Amino acid sequence: MNSERLRDAMVARLRKAGISDELVLSAMHAVPRHHFIDEALASRAYEDASLPIGHGQTISQPWIVARMIQTARANRTLTRVLEVGTGCGYQAAVLAGVAQEVYSIERIRGLHDVARDRLRPLRLSRVRLALGDGMLGLPSAAPFDAIVVAAAGMAIPDALSEQLAIGGRLVAPEGTTEQRLILIERTGARNWKRSELESVRFVPLRPGVIW
Ligand code: SAH
Repeated sequence: MNSERLRDAMVARLRKAGISDELVLSAMHAVPRHHFIDEALASRAYEDASLPIGHGQTISQPWIVARMIQTARANRTLTRVLEVGTGCGYQAAVLAGVAQEVYSIERIRGLHDVARDRLRPLRLSRVRLALGDGMLGLPSAAPFDAIVVAAAGMAIPDALSEQLAIGGRLVAPEGTTEQRLILIERTGARNWKRSELESVRFVPLRPGVIW
C-alpha cells in the first residue's frame, strides 16, 4: 500500500476514535509521518503507536497528536501556537496545517537538528524551531493562541500559562507514573480554568538544554 492509502486508513481510525475537527484530520492526512522516523521503523509509521526517535525519546501516537491539537484548537482560527518538545518534528508539521505560525522548542540539540532536517524538504515556512528549555516557554514569541506540550512534568510550568493569550488554550500531560492530559484555558488577565482529561503516557518534561 502506498503511504497516501495508509494515511486514509489512519484518518478513518482517528474519526472512529472521536477526532471530528476536519482541519485537524486534513492536516493529519497531509503530513507523511514515515518521513519523521527511521527507515527501519517506517513500515510501522501509520500504526497508532508511539515509536522511538533516538535520544531515549518517542514520536507520539497519531491519536494523541490529533487529540491534543483538536483540544487546543477548539474550532478557533489559530494565529500563533507553541509546541514544547519538538522531538522529530512530526507534530510541528501537523500544527502547520492548522495555524499560521508554529513555534516549536526542543531541549536536546540532536533532536532539534533531526527535526530541522526532516522538516526542510516539506518547506513549511510557518514552522520555526528553537533550541531551549521549553519549561520557560518562548517569551520572545508570546502570547500564543494555543500551547501543546509533548512531555509530562509534575506540574504545568507557570511560565507556559502566562504565555497564553487571553482566550488561549494549553494542553499538556501532567504526572509521573500516573499521567493525565490537562487543559488550561486563559479566561482573563489573571484567570485560568483547569480541566482534567484522560490518562496518557508521555516521556518526561526535563529542565535545561543538552548541547
Ligand atoms: N512532538 C513530538 C514528540 C516528541 S517526545 C512528536 O511529534 O512526536 C517529547 C519531546 O519533548 C522529547 O524530544 C524531549 O526531549 C522534549 N522535551 C522534554 N522536556 C523538554 C523541555 N523542557 N523543553 C523542550 N523540550 C523538552
